Parts: sequence; structure tokens; C-alpha cells
Amino acid sequence: MHILITGGAGFIGSAVARWIIERTTHRVLVFDKLTYAGNLASLASVAHDPRYTFRKADICDAVAVKSAFSDFEPDIVMHLAAETHVDRSIDGPDAFIQTNVVGTYVLLQAALTHWRVLPVGRRDNFRFHHISTDEVFGSLGKTGCFAEDTRYAPNSPYAASKAGSDHLVRAWQHTYGLPTLVTNCSNNYGPYHFPEKLIPLTILNALEGRPLPVYGRGENIRDWLFVEDHAEALLLAALNGAPGATYNIGGSNERRNIDVVEAICDLVDELSPSAIDGPRRKLINFVPDRPGHDQRYAIDASRIKSELGWQPRHDFEQGLRKTVEWYLTNHRWWEVIRSDTYRGERLGLAI
Ligand code: NAD
Repeated sequence: MHILITGGAGFIGSAVARWIIERTTHRVLVFDKLTYAGNLASLASVAHDPRYTFRKADICDAVAVKSAFSDFEPDIVMHLAAETHVDRSIDGPDAFIQTNVVGTYVLLQAALTHWRVLPVGRRDNFRFHHISTDEVFGSLGKTGCFAEDTRYAPNSPYAASKAGSDHLVRAWQHTYGLPTLVTNCSNNYGPYHFPEKLIPLTILNALEGRPLPVYGRGENIRDWLFVEDHAEALLLAALNGAPGATYNIGGSNERRNIDVVEAICDLVDELSPSAIDGPRRKLINFVPDRPGHDQRYAIDASRIKSELGWQPRHDFEQGLRKTVEWYLTNHRWWEVIRSDTYRGERLGLAI
């Protein structure tokens, strides 16, 4: 199979590319603009494999997208390119609309043109797989889970842009017959995660003895999934998912943000006994909440488990330990980011 991965230099996309090159015989083209979040160092372990190629380009550029389709002739498109940070979407929604909505439209049009002239066998097996988020469903109360038929109710500009792209994908399947599928996943964590997001930001600040910002009182709940478990689920869905299907993906690891931050403090204390005086928990610093902060997300992943046989391999405690260990042994990957692209400043206050 020829698998075109948009956003393959990002956190999840690079995990998918590494997973495919290291564990299968498929070929991969990573198509990525290399925004602040894209990083070729995340692909270094597969970069010399003859089944891997990289193209630096923007999914909003119809000419570049068309040429990638005609040169690579994909059997599967795994579309992960996106602007992904909720706080940045509050400060500057424009890039989110451009990449997440317009970019997805450009890709769909190119995929449709490509798919229509494929020979019959390859046409039947072609898939356009949109990788989306559970944030399209909005916020939950104390109980219940998001299922595939939960009503869309996106609250942040990021979530709204992803909901918009999900709807485009659905319409291209319904109207033109393009064999698409959509997966909606909960919060990921793991190696190579850009340190603007809660878990890597907390790990690095804890290592450096800096304050650990927690929004509000840290009561918001997320359902965490280790990124490699997500990568495995995505490939399974891309290869075996039914055209037009949607699958929710999640690890059933609901945690309050404050519990996540405290668990990281304890792990960093254990694995990197402190340069600072006393336990890292004392660095926790409650800061003004994110505007419109969703209270709780939780995923019912029973469809992908029963139809495609997927099971996550990591529980939260195992995955978090692996993640902290990775940041402790991969200084070179994150020091470049911390000293240049993003130093940990507060984003998304809507002022
Ligand atoms: P990321 O921010 O780490 O990476 C995004 C990648 O897309 C980067 O490599 C960036 O350079 C690239 N990109 C951005 N704009 C582009 C453009 N216009 N053209 C080409 N490339 C562009 O994101 P991530 O966390 O790896 O998320 C990947 C996908 O998974 C996104 O679509 C996101 O909505 C979805 N998702 C993420 C999570 C999560 O917890 N991180 C959960 C569910 C779904």
C-alpha cells in the first residue's frame, strides 16, 4: 500500500509514520508544511528507509497537493495535518479555519479526482481517513461518554474547525461516493509531544524546577490515550474500516488535570531526584482558567474494539512512566524547541 500521511511530522502523524515503516511493508509519503509543530527530528529513525519519503508543502496549496497525488499514487490518505492547540485557536483562529477547513477541502477535491480514475480493484480499497478529535462533541457532565452518534457541539475555535472538516469529509462520501472514514480520538500523550500541551509542558517545567501552571482548579477531566496505541488504531481503521464509518478511539483513562500534574511531579521526583528543594508538587501554580474550557471528555470506544479488534496496550500509569522516561533521555529533541520555538509562555487568555 502507498500511504500518504498529511501532518506526518507532527506528534501523532510521526508516530503513525514510524509505526508503519517499522512494523509493516507499506510505503509512506509524509506531506507536511513544517509549521512550529512539525519536526523532522521526530522522523529521524525512519528517514533513511527506502519506503519513506518526505515532501514539505501546504495542504491548502492545490497544485502541491495534486502533484503529491500524481507522483505518489496513494491507496490510502491519512489526513492529520491541522492546527491543533486550543489556546492558539483562541488567540488566532484564522490559521485553524485555513488549514483545518480549507485545507481539508483541498485534499478532498484532490482525493476525489485521483480516486475516480483508479483501476476498479484499487478504487474499491481506496480510503480517505480523516483523523479527528472528541472535542467536536463538546463537553460532558459528570456521567456518560461520547459515542459515534453523539450530537456535534464544538465549543472552541479549534473544535469548531475540526467539526467543519468532519462534515466536509462526510459530505464527500455521501454526495460523491468517496470512500472516507473519520476517527474521533481523545487526548493523546507520549514521546515527541510538542511542549505546549499539558503533559510535556508539565514534565519539562518540573525537570527545570519552574512553576507548573494548572488552569482553574485543575478539575477538568480528559480521557488519555498513549500515542502509539492511537497509531495502531489508526492504521487498523485505515486498512479495515468500512467506507463511510466513524470510530471513536479512547483509552478509558479519565483523569482530572490536577491528578495528571501530581502524577508527573511524583514520577519526575522518582526518576530525576531533584535539583530543587523538596517535592515537585510544591511547584503547582493555579492560573486563570481557559475561556470556555470544556469540563469533561470521555470516550466509548466499543465500536472499534468489537468491529476491528483494537485494544490499547498501555494503561495511563504505564504510558505516563514511558513518557517521562522518554523526555529524560531525549533532551536534544526538546531543548531546541524550548530554547527557540516555544518557551512555555501562557497562551489563549482571549484578551
Ligand atoms: P501537531 O500539532 O503535533 O501536528 C500537526 C502537523 O500538521 C505538524 O507537523 C504541522 O507542521 C502540520 N501542518 C499544520 N498545518 C499544515 C498545513 N497547512 N499543511 C501541511 N501540514 C500542516 O498535531 P497532533 O497532535 O499530531 O494531531 C494530529 C491530528 O490528530 C490533528 O488533526 C488533530 O486534530 C488530531 N487529534 C489530536 C489529538 C491530540 O491529543 N493531540 C487528539 C485527537 C485528534
